[in-house]
Amino acid sequence: MSLRFGPTTLAIPGPSIVPERVLRAMHRASPNIYEGELVDIMDELTADLKRVARTAHEVAIYIGNGHAAWEAALANVCSHGDKALVLVTGRFALGWADMAKAMGVDVELMDFGTAAPVDPQQVEDRLRADTAGELKAVLTVHTDTSTSVKSDIPSMRKALDAAGHDALLMVDCIACLGCDEFLMDAWGVDVMGAGCQKGLMTPAGVSFTFHGPKAAEAAKTAECRTSYWNWDPRTDPDLFYQRFAGTAPTHHLYGLREALTMLLEEEGLEACWARHQHFAETLWAATDHWAEGQALACNIHDRAHRSIAVTTLRIEGCAASEVRAWCEAAAGLTLGIGLGLDAAGTPPSDGIFRIGHMGHLSAHNFLGTIATVDAALKALEVPHGEGAVAAATMEIARRAAA
Ligand SMILES: *Cc1c(COP(=O)(O)O)cnc(C)c1O
Repeated sequence: MSLRFGPTTLAIPGPSIVPERVLRAMHRASPNIYEGELVDIMDELTADLKRVARTAHEVAIYIGNGHAAWEAALANVCSHGDKALVLVTGRFALGWADMAKAMGVDVELMDFGTAAPVDPQQVEDRLRADTAGELKAVLTVHTDTSTSVKSDIPSMRKALDAAGHDALLMVDCIACLGCDEFLMDAWGVDVMGAGCQKGLMTPAGVSFTFHGPKAAEAAKTAECRTSYWNWDPRTDPDLFYQRFAGTAPTHHLYGLREALTMLLEEEGLEACWARHQHFAETLWAATDHWAEGQALACNIHDRAHRSIAVTTLRIEGCAASEVRAWCEAAAGLTLGIGLGLDAAGTPPSDGIFRIGHMGHLSAHNFLGTIATVDAALKALEVPHGEGAVAAATMEIARRAAA
């Protein structure tokens, strides 16, 4: 029989769980969009977004999802025929690269496979070889949500500097902004893209580009820039409606306002990063036990290279879709599908599932997710080691006491 009647849980790598408070903040009549509260909250809202990205520079807000942030980032700095080096650690970098190609950018892929982070030495070597300075930008993904690998962004800045190359460093932080440490200015990132529906706990619908002075300079001559994506009026509008090239995403702004208050004023950004680290390590304590059955493993072997916002698990001998279906139908837990990793030696999408651990997540909620996956492995007779749930509860007990 199904035991799912009661609160359900979404543990997919985006969208994440939307707090009731955020939903309530959105539940209101459409506001005046010319003056009043909505207009008045914008200065603080943009200041808070910059606090989340740890930047003193610019943020533009778009009505759109992560793909919109991708396109906006490219459109503002690229011209047809520009060359971009795309560092591939999973499907998402490939998606961004495809978009760049469609916009007329000459894309070069540097592929690190499906279970490893970017190797900064290879990046540095490639940049050194570009003596003519043809590469306009380096595109990379902080957490690739398909593989759940995390790459070291400061090491890429170092690679650019060591090679003496002035390409723009452009980073997709859509999966992990607000979950994992990201210091845009200190790390020397020129352009960063993010969305509201993962770490920022707001229903999908608004996304962001952050950019520094070097990107602002590049934007002056970018031919791909069209009026809708142009970030200048959005960052420095003469009239309020120019911030959004039209009607503001009214309700999303109220929701986001509430989410940022929770994140920055109540929990604190650094505490939030630490919470995500604790939950990720709690899950990995469980996966270590599951892996003893030889059927299940984290896609990323080295903990230092794992994202703390999402974990991709490989599973053998039992379709991942069965695990997901069991969790959903029997227990009210929705897990993330596998995105096929498509490289030699990697399983197709049905050999993978993903657990999202981003955003609005408490210990009791996350222990429920881990215990439910454990129950699914038992119900479906997937070989697995015992003790995963006990290990997870031990981690929480230890970490909560610290
Ligand atoms: C979710 C995600 C995207 C795409 O975002 P959408 O809102 O689905 O367009 C891009 N990159 C990364 C790393 C993501 O996690």
